[in-house]
Amino acid sequence: MLGSVHCLPIAGTRELRGLSTVGEAGAWGLLPEELAGLGVKSAHAAFAELQRPWRWSERGPVLSQTARALLESRGLLLPQICERHVSSDGSTKLLLALGTDRIETVHMPRAVGSGRVSLCLSSQVGCAMGCKFCATAQMGFRRHLGAGEIVAQVLSVVAALGPRHPGDLTLVFMGMGEPLHNLTAVARSIQVLCRSEGLGLSPKRITVSTSGLVPEMAALATLEARPLLALSLNATTDEVRQELMPIGRRYPLSALRALLEGYPLRPRERITIEYVLLAGVNDSVADAQRLAEFCAAFPHNINLIPFNAHPASPFRSPTEAQVDRFARALLDKRPSLVTVRRSRGRDVQGACGQLVQS
Ligand code: SAH
Ligand code: SF4
Repeated sequence: MLGSVHCLPIAGTRELRGLSTVGEAGAWGLLPEELAGLGVKSAHAAFAELQRPWRWSERGPVLSQTARALLESRGLLLPQICERHVSSDGSTKLLLALGTDRIETVHMPRAVGSGRVSLCLSSQVGCAMGCKFCATAQMGFRRHLGAGEIVAQVLSVVAALGPRHPGDLTLVFMGMGEPLHNLTAVARSIQVLCRSEGLGLSPKRITVSTSGLVPEMAALATLEARPLLALSLNATTDEVRQELMPIGRRYPLSALRALLEGYPLRPRERITIEYVLLAGVNDSVADAQRLAEFCAAFPHNINLIPFNAHPASPFRSPTEAQVDRFARALLDKRPSLVTVRRSRGRDVQGACGQLVQS
């Protein structure tokens, strides 16, 4: 868990001056046509300038005085990077200030020297879902991030740490918060980040991970810029799931499975099933067999995540041998794609479920 937070300039990152740091950062979440509607001249060029951080000056995006004044009235704010913690595995956990709130973003180079980066994004300050194994849950829910704040989170981290080209960027909504509890803002941020005049990301390089809000998953499937879907299943019986994840009481496994069976997928696309392994709770061979059965009805990848310990948690991580036994039992039943996710940033408390603002 993080101690008290002090915002200090960070050596080695680009400091952006001339931008205030409180408010909703609304302008970052506007589409080119909305900029035009506000009266911004050459709105497509202004959008490109806003959304392409490698073109920025020290003051951030280079805008005409009138455009800047118009956009500042909507909130032209970038989160300030308060702290960064570099992990021995090359990932960096960044603490960003949004007014008095703090969120965390993890910057994960895909491989040494490759230039490719995954950013693990926050969608809320805290989380309302109350999963028993998750450190963020202990914060409770503080607030949703606005679409502009989510976009600004991406742009400020890319400005500071790269990558230098949007083709090298992958986004995963696996940081603080439940993205589908904040679907409107998350969907808009994806729409903005995918616009070709700006970053031009492909929605196929954006993954939204959810604890399983069924109606919102169905709504996600209808988006024009539809991201990849990851479901945090984490249990194979309703009894255990409801115990670990209160949302399981509203949407049982049968409802999740019915939705996933009918989920629209692009050619070769798969749904990621995330499964946190908790020693003695959900890591038996019978669990592995039930997990294989659950997944049989739709194209999938399975991500096994050995539990990342955090203070005040009653759960334990499984041993390597237990993880191995589980993965083998799964593969015996169904030769699908199974990966064991050794979480990045564990030594700086930046791994899955370790993100928390004290
Ligand atoms: N709220 C979303 C996304 C953020 S959590 C969700 O739940 O899917 C991202 C992933 O971290 C989820 O798969 C979650 O099950 C996992 N996770 C949470 N706490 C963890 C912990 N302590 N150790 C390992 N994984 C954890
Ligand atoms: Fe929220 Fe996801 Fe943590 Fe559950 S696992 S409390 S949904 S962030």
